[in-house]
Amino acid sequence: MLDLQALLTSISDRIYHEADWGQPAQYIPDLAEIEPAQFAISVCMADGATYSAGLANQRFTIQSISKVFALIATLGRIGDQLWARVDREPSGTAFDSIVLLESDKGHPRNPFVNAGAIVTTDALLSGREPKLALAEFLHLVRAMTEDDDIHINGAVARSEQETGARNKALAHYLASYENLFNPPDLVLGTYFHQCAIEMTTIQLARAGRVLAGLKGSPRVMSLNHARRVNALMMTCGHYDGSGDFAFRVGLPGKSGVGGGILIIAPNVASIGIWSPGLNFYGNSNAGTRAAAYLTQETGWSVF
Ligand code: GLN
Repeated sequence: MLDLQALLTSISDRIYHEADWGQPAQYIPDLAEIEPAQFAISVCMADGATYSAGLANQRFTIQSISKVFALIATLGRIGDQLWARVDREPSGTAFDSIVLLESDKGHPRNPFVNAGAIVTTDALLSGREPKLALAEFLHLVRAMTEDDDIHINGAVARSEQETGARNKALAHYLASYENLFNPPDLVLGTYFHQCAIEMTTIQLARAGRVLAGLKGSPRVMSLNHARRVNALMMTCGHYDGSGDFAFRVGLPGKSGVGGGILIIAPNVASIGIWSPGLNFYGNSNAGTRAAAYLTQETGWSVF
């Protein structure tokens, strides 16, 4: 029988032994300073048990993993209307790329590249004060996790607000195609705060239970929406590294430049991983390897 605790401990040992960390995100000053040699993994199983190894109580900003929660919130709010503004195709470009937006006439390829996430946040915001939209958003993340001790790191949000020239360019470019309904700076302020939500790997794994369809997880979304979000995580969750992640791990996953990865093994487990050093694609370097070790040993690939 699978001894998951022993497996996670051995994966953590192996990751520390390999000491192949990569570099934390350099373009957000508050993230650039983080010590890269850190690792955590947590797994929630269908029977309700949670197993962890490494620094599973360490908080990190979830960054682009928040795009999954924003998509869930937006689908809950406006449903399929979102797809009139954002497509569902892999982009084959970096998370913050602008190149396709011109030929696609301001219609982002998917909700997980920054341009698509900015449109999703705009849809989430429409008709409401940013504070209210953010409070409701945080409420959803807490409800999915069944843990109220989840907060926004204001310093990281400000750090990105002061330096996020590329996201500002994306938002204004989207506005020029009339695919933003709120003022770009208002949408960006909300987006930067949503990205700065801090969680531990335990909380992240718990938040993913509903996507994995685990029994007893809070019913915050329909099964149909969960399937669609998982499909997008599989095809677009790691940007131009999505094919490589599917090849190596074989499960839907969403990364963030804070070094977190949320991985869904449908009907089996929800997995949270963190290691702040990034690979070429801006996805967690050691975290991706740990995910591959886990699925090789457990056979949890969907393929
Ligand atoms: N806040 C980051 C940004 O918008 C999120 C990017 C990421 O995690 N890939 O650039």
